[in-house]
Amino acid sequence: MIATPSTTPHTGQDYLQKNPTGTETRSPNQSLLPLTANINSRDNLEIGGCDLKTLVEQFGSPLYILDEITLRTACRQYRDFFQTYYQGESQVIYASKAWSSLAVVAVIATEDLGFDVVSGGELHTTQKALTQMGYSNQEIAQKIYFHGNNKSVAELKQAIEIGCTIIVDNWVELQTIPQLAQNLSQQTIPILIRLTPGIECHTHDYIRTGHLDSKFGFDPNQIEAVFSYIAEQKSLDCRGLHAHIGSQIFERQPHQDLAGVLVEWLKIGQEYGLTLPVLNIGGGLGIRYTEEDDPPSIEEWVKAVSEAVMKACQRCGVPLPKLIAEPGRSLIGSACVTAYTVGSQKEIPELRTYIAVDGGMSDNPRPITYQSAYSVVLGNKMSAQINQTVTIAGKHCESGDILIKDAQLPQTHPGDILVIMGTGAYNYSMASNYNRLPRPAAVLVNNGEANLILRRETYDDLIRQDCLPQKLLS
Ligand SMILES: *Cc1c(COP(=O)(O)O)cnc(C)c1O
Repeated sequence: MIATPSTTPHTGQDYLQKNPTGTETRSPNQSLLPLTANINSRDNLEIGGCDLKTLVEQFGSPLYILDEITLRTACRQYRDFFQTYYQGESQVIYASKAWSSLAVVAVIATEDLGFDVVSGGELHTTQKALTQMGYSNQEIAQKIYFHGNNKSVAELKQAIEIGCTIIVDNWVELQTIPQLAQNLSQQTIPILIRLTPGIECHTHDYIRTGHLDSKFGFDPNQIEAVFSYIAEQKSLDCRGLHAHIGSQIFERQPHQDLAGVLVEWLKIGQEYGLTLPVLNIGGGLGIRYTEEDDPPSIEEWVKAVSEAVMKACQRCGVPLPKLIAEPGRSLIGSACVTAYTVGSQKEIPELRTYIAVDGGMSDNPRPITYQSAYSVVLGNKMSAQINQTVTIAGKHCESGDILIKDAQLPQTHPGDILVIMGTGAYNYSMASNYNRLPRPAAVLVNNGEANLILRRETYDDLIRQDCLPQKLLS
């Protein structure tokens, strides 16, 4: 066993940062646990007023637990702070690739956000949810923005029929859309142009270059060719420009720089007779996954972006565009935790202790894909002393299936509940059935009530798409 460094929390309680001013004023992306996290008299972790141990008994394990208040608070903060700090019109759209499902769309839609989708499947999910909620076709069209570097003709037709804005990524698409518009006898198709500014963000630093090696977006050197092509196309209603520079960003400067270059490009477009009333700055604000992570608050990020856009517009003599931001991770990441049940344990003396849980890379592929760090608490013994450094392993046939490498925990026993925090973004949406593990259920919790939003897959779900040709049966 490795000694626990003195800076780390002593018990699970230390992860609950009490805030006397209440949940509404905290920035969800800076909080490890959802805003409603609490410890109850049984020493269990509670989220949304629900005891996690009881939820696991009721809904099974592993389980995604999505806190409605945290998700709604993040939506409101984005929306309200843009209204506070940006003097023009603004719209916040949820990057639904972070977690796309009917209930997630429904919660976010009622907070008056729009949606960024990147595939026909995400478009279908979003449209279905909004239709079931009673939104009109026109309202749905205005809420959805369709991204992607290789949209198929079928996907483009789907988007054109829905009437949403298409964020055009490349020349092939730019030339295909007018043909489709003609075939579908559509007058005009609302589009934005995605550009690849020479700004690249790694997690904790960024670089600015003239060119960027990226599969997304137009090279800014082609911007004049793009504008002059669009100016000739009657079927293209080019509303403005878009860029997205990366994810899990902890600095404000990259987006401030981005605002500057995008506004300069808006000005060039206006020289081609294009009005370009929209500027979409992308997403990318980071969240806290570990004690060491220190992202800016939603308020700080929105303020920095708003001021940079207004300043650039003043400098370039461009009227304030409608400003769009499309956060994914920072809206939903901190609103969810995953509860697992502890199973086997393997102690390699003087080297490492493995504690295995009943999920892993199939429900959270981020550690094996990106070496992402996470934090964990022992959800059924929140005040137990943290006294060991262990490795939390998944149950997949893959040595790399490790959820947390150096986790700080109290003594654990088979049957204990481990709660990994910050699993709302890019967990369920990237989940797989590797090793034929059924994907977990998800519940939405609020005010002591838990509602199922994703049913746990069954073994029969796993063979639902399998076909057994007759000739193999004889
Ligand atoms: C992924 C993505 C986002 C959201 O990024 P986050 O880091 O989750 O905020 C926004 N826009 C585009 C185009 C994206 O691809």
